[in-house]
Amino acid sequence: MEQNQVTMIINEGDIEKTLENATRTSDAAEVRDILSKALQLNGLQAPDIAALAAISDPELIAELFETAKQVKEIIYGRRLVLFAPLYISNLCQNECLYCAFRAKNKNVKRRALSQQEIQREVEILVKQGHKRVLLVAGESYPQQGFQYILDSIQTIYNTKVGTGEIRRVNVNIAPLTTDEFRLLKAAQIGTYQLFQETYHRRTYQAVHISGQKADYDWRVTAMDRAIKAGIDDVGIGILFGLCDWRFELLALMQHINYLEETFGIGPHTISVPRLEPAAGSDMAAHPPKPVSDIDFRKIVAILRLAVPYTGIIMSTRETPNMRRETFALGVSQISAGSRTNPGGYAEGQDIEEQAQFSLGDHRLLDEVIYDVAKLGYIPSFCTGCYRLGRTGQDFMDLAKPGLIKEHCDPNALSTFMEYLLDYGSEKTRSVGQTLIAKVLDETEPVAKQRSMAMLEKIRNGRRDVFC
Ligand code: SAM
Ligand code: SF4
Repeated sequence: MEQNQVTMIINEGDIEKTLENATRTSDAAEVRDILSKALQLNGLQAPDIAALAAISDPELIAELFETAKQVKEIIYGRRLVLFAPLYISNLCQNECLYCAFRAKNKNVKRRALSQQEIQREVEILVKQGHKRVLLVAGESYPQQGFQYILDSIQTIYNTKVGTGEIRRVNVNIAPLTTDEFRLLKAAQIGTYQLFQETYHRRTYQAVHISGQKADYDWRVTAMDRAIKAGIDDVGIGILFGLCDWRFELLALMQHINYLEETFGIGPHTISVPRLEPAAGSDMAAHPPKPVSDIDFRKIVAILRLAVPYTGIIMSTRETPNMRRETFALGVSQISAGSRTNPGGYAEGQDIEEQAQFSLGDHRLLDEVIYDVAKLGYIPSFCTGCYRLGRTGQDFMDLAKPGLIKEHCDPNALSTFMEYLLDYGSEKTRSVGQTLIAKVLDETEPVAKQRSMAMLEKIRNGRRDVFC
């Protein structure tokens, strides 16, 4: 049963054939046809994706980027959702050759934060203005077992600083059993996020040497168990640099199609981490299939066209410049001010001894927000959909005809205003207020009215206003 199910998810033979055909057949006219089709916002099929992945002519690449930009603007407008990762533990039983937390890496000081330490981390994030965190942990829990994760989620939600609080906890932890997923759902998580790392079975086996994670099938079927347990908001991803990125894109699409056909819902988000240097990992320093900067931009642009309504997440693994460029190409969520070591917000980033990997963007949240606003994007801390139960099928029903914007835009403005008034530096506040005024000026009358009413409430001291 399990093996059949896995074959239904990923079919490597089909992927190889599609890639081979694409290198033989794609020409400029065909690429342009695909780009016009993408503008209809219905997504793309595997041969289209393979054809776009094969282009190398700078003129066609520029056209691909321009099309992705248009699609991003139509669907997401100028919003960029912000979050912070929260590493609670670096204990791990697995041997993923690219990760500093792998079990045999003796140089890493192992640590699982206590609930008091988690509270201290959350207080710092809340004081910076964060409203969303992504809880991250290695695959091994202290003596409380899985209950440790549930307690930690509770601690995060219970931590308040003045009117500030974390309103949405997303989770990136190892695959669970269906029963454990039910408990995770009951703990009121937002998105359950899990990256397959590589969909290529042979590569997967070569880089995941031991521990539960060595089981490819257990990982690739995780979203089935999560969805069956009632978690209808899931995020998937690939760790780029392990295997040919073209193969990974097509496999990711197979996984998405499978989820849509089987459960009627696709992933809410796709993450695109690239391998970064990690203490004690030769593989991280020398990725087997490095992805160049130009290919990385292509990946984001192709994903934007292939799955127009899915959020694309860009982490602080990338440099400020790369992050800026990919905002235009399709990224809709970014982390900011991140630390990848447990306790890192209170104690600083400790690359050599406790962190998972090095960062490309070291700026504080306020600096990132200033930069984002200056570029004309609206930083958003919105948690509206999740709070109103607009997830899974309900979310897709609004997202596909483009109706979700009617909620996202006013919610982005109101949460941005909240940030500016409560946490923004003077220079960010000034850039932000100018941006909000400009956006309102350009908004059509009904939506403008709604946004202005929400902003007025925030100015008058109300918090957490959403629609
Ligand atoms: N331990 C769980 C797991 O592996 O699924 C969840 C958390 S793990 C800390 C989060 C992600 O970090 C992994 O899925 C992997 O994609 C990413 N990662 C690991 N090592 C990395 C590196 N050297 N550079 C960039 N990302 C890395
Ligand atoms: Fe452990 Fe996850 Fe790192 Fe693998 S990627 S060693 S499972 S923390």
